Amino acid sequence: MNLHCLGTSGYHPSEARQTSCYFLAEDGVVLDAGSGIFRLTPLIQTDRLDILLSHAHLDHTMGLTFLHDVLRGREFAEVRVWAAADKLAVIQACLFQQLIFPAMIPVRWMVVPPGEAFEVGTRRPLRVETRNQEHPGGSLAYRIRWPGDGKTLVYATDTVGDTSAEAQRWMRAADLLVHECSFRDREQDWAMQTGHCWTSRAAGIGRSAGVKRLLLAHINPLETGDDPIDLAQARGIFPETVVAADGDVVPF
Ligand SMILES: [Zn+2]
Ligand SMILES: [Zn+2]
Repeated sequence: MNLHCLGTSGYHPSEARQTSCYFLAEDGVVLDAGSGIFRLTPLIQTDRLDILLSHAHLDHTMGLTFLHDVLRGREFAEVRVWAAADKLAVIQACLFQQLIFPAMIPVRWMVVPPGEAFEVGTRRPLRVETRNQEHPGGSLAYRIRWPGDGKTLVYATDTVGDTSAEAQRWMRAADLLVHECSFRDREQDWAMQTGHCWTSRAAGIGRSAGVKRLLLAHINPLETGDDPIDLAQARGIFPETVVAADGDVVPF
C-alpha cells in the first residue's frame, strides 16, 4: 500500500506545502480535501472515489470546490464525500452557498454513521471506523483496515492528541499512523488553545500505541525549514517517526 501526500500543511498553504490531502490511489480513497487535492487528477486509478473528511475547517475542505477540474475528463461511477452529519450540513449550506461558491459538485454526500463501521473502496471493501477527537467543533479520526492481511492505517488530524488507554487500544499496532503535529513543544500552550498537537505528545502516542510507523502531518505553514517539528526529539521518543512532505509516497 502507498499513501500519496498531496497536502501536508495545516491552516494555509506555504511555498512548500498545500493544505491537508492524502490519497490511497489503489483503492480510490482520499483523506481530507484541502488545497492539495488539485494534485489528485493524474494519480486516479479507479472509477469511484471515497473522500473522507476529518471535519469542516477550510484547510480540509476548500479543495471540494476544485473538484470540477480535478474530476474533469474522466467518467466516474460515483464520487462519495463522507463526514459527520453536522459537518456535511455546514459544508453544503456554507461552502456551496451561492455567494461563496456557486457550482455544486457532482458527488454523493454520505453521513458517517456515528459509532458504526462502514465500507469504502472500489477494488476491495475497506472497513472504516471512526473516533471523536478533541478539536474546536470536533473532528473524526479514521481507522482503515484492508481485507486479507488486515493492513491498517489510522488518520488522526486536527486533535490535541488522545493519550487515553482507549485511544491507544484503538490505534494499536497500526501499520501506519498519520498523526498531526502542528507545533513544536515550545508552542504547546498555543497548540492546546487551538486544539492541535505537538512533537513530544504526537511521538508519545505513536510509541504508546505500538504502531509500526508514525507519519507526522498537518505541519505549521510558518515552518519553512528542513526540520519543522524537531524530528530528532520525536525519534528519541519513537524512532519510527517520519515527517510528511508534499509529494511523498509513503509505503506501509
Ligand atoms: Zn487543519
Ligand atoms: Zn481544524
